[in-house]
Amino acid sequence: MSTAKAYAATSATTPLASTTIQRREPGERDVQIEILFCGVCHSDLHYARNEWSGMPPVFPAVPGHEIVGRVTQVGSAVTKHKVGDTVGVGCMVGADLSCPMCKKDLEQFCPNMVLTYGSPEKATGKVTYGGYSDSVVVDEHFVLKVPANLDLAGTAPLLCAGITTYSPLRHWGVTKGKKVGVVGLGGLGHMGVKFAHALGAHTVVFTTSPKKKEDALRLGADGVIISTDSAEMSKHAGTFDFILDCVAAEHDLNAYVQLLAADGTLCLVGAPDTPLPIGVFGLIFGRKSISGSLIGGIAETQEMLDFCGEHNITADVEIIPIQKINDAWDRMVKSDVKYRFSIDMSSLKSE
Ligand code: NAP
Ligand code: ZN
Repeated sequence: MSTAKAYAATSATTPLASTTIQRREPGERDVQIEILFCGVCHSDLHYARNEWSGMPPVFPAVPGHEIVGRVTQVGSAVTKHKVGDTVGVGCMVGADLSCPMCKKDLEQFCPNMVLTYGSPEKATGKVTYGGYSDSVVVDEHFVLKVPANLDLAGTAPLLCAGITTYSPLRHWGVTKGKKVGVVGLGGLGHMGVKFAHALGAHTVVFTTSPKKKEDALRLGADGVIISTDSAEMSKHAGTFDFILDCVAAEHDLNAYVQLLAADGTLCLVGAPDTPLPIGVFGLIFGRKSISGSLIGGIAETQEMLDFCGEHNITADVEIIPIQKINDAWDRMVKSDVKYRFSIDMSSLKSE
């Protein structure tokens, strides 16, 4: 075991604070990483504040699953990475790699998937600690290669917000000629806009924040609709092929079902805990679908990072020292993020 610096929550109602944690010694298939940046995902807050009934937090909780860093040590059997490589780690650090899901490169659906934080760790049985820390030890299979041309602070959010939006856009065949909506211009939403635009789709942003309109256009949207304006919403009824819903709170899904064309799909990636009511008739007329999507597999995450390398895509980030994390979380709850916080982990050195 070795000691790492971290920020942790000790209860659902206390702010995150500086602490030390134990990391395992790298095993033969493990990569030890010095964390340089970690993105701040709304899931970090849902988890630590006990907002998900299906995933109660284990305290102390160290969130963070948008990790970019440098390899400092590798186990004897590691072949994918070497000391000095710039690498990323997303929401998963383990899976059985032998089940039907893993064999289809869908490790995120493996019944034995291990989350980067809050899951029992395979090697030690202890709960995993995430990336709000200065180092981490991860099985090489779950460590991604970062294209050399990408800015590291803006790359960290690709490991969750990036893959979570890229994967459904690819799965549902978003391409040139399709009309695509992205609901909620936060961390996930702004990546969804960049990807839908890069894939050639006509991209429309739905936001509750009128002041984000110009940014949405700059990020690649062809149109912006203020979702509280029902007259504006109804002008687009029946016209969307695909809508990606990235909203972190309770909201009305029926308003978006109504905007789908026949055979269109509303895909939920935002994860509020409250059940959301659906009017069945809205689906029947037009054979419409509501679906969900969870991050993406490791091969697809690498594909997404390579796509970002080719198209020079990173997240728009506000870089913060770890000491500002509690303010950042409060701002995230108020939808006041442009458009992802990325923690500069060198700030942990002074703790
Ligand atoms: P975020 O940065 O806080 O963005 C959420 C956006 O939702 C806000 O910026 C806001 O956009 C909109 N919004 C917030 N409250 C709203 C309300 N009451 N009504 C309507 N819109 C509202 O969060 P994030 O990090 O992108 O995460 C979004 C959600 O995705 C979270 O629930 C998170 O847990 C989940 N998530 C899921 C996966 C997955 O694999 N499925 C992965 C990562 C995260 P506007 O200001 O534009 O309205
Ligand atoms: Zn996330």
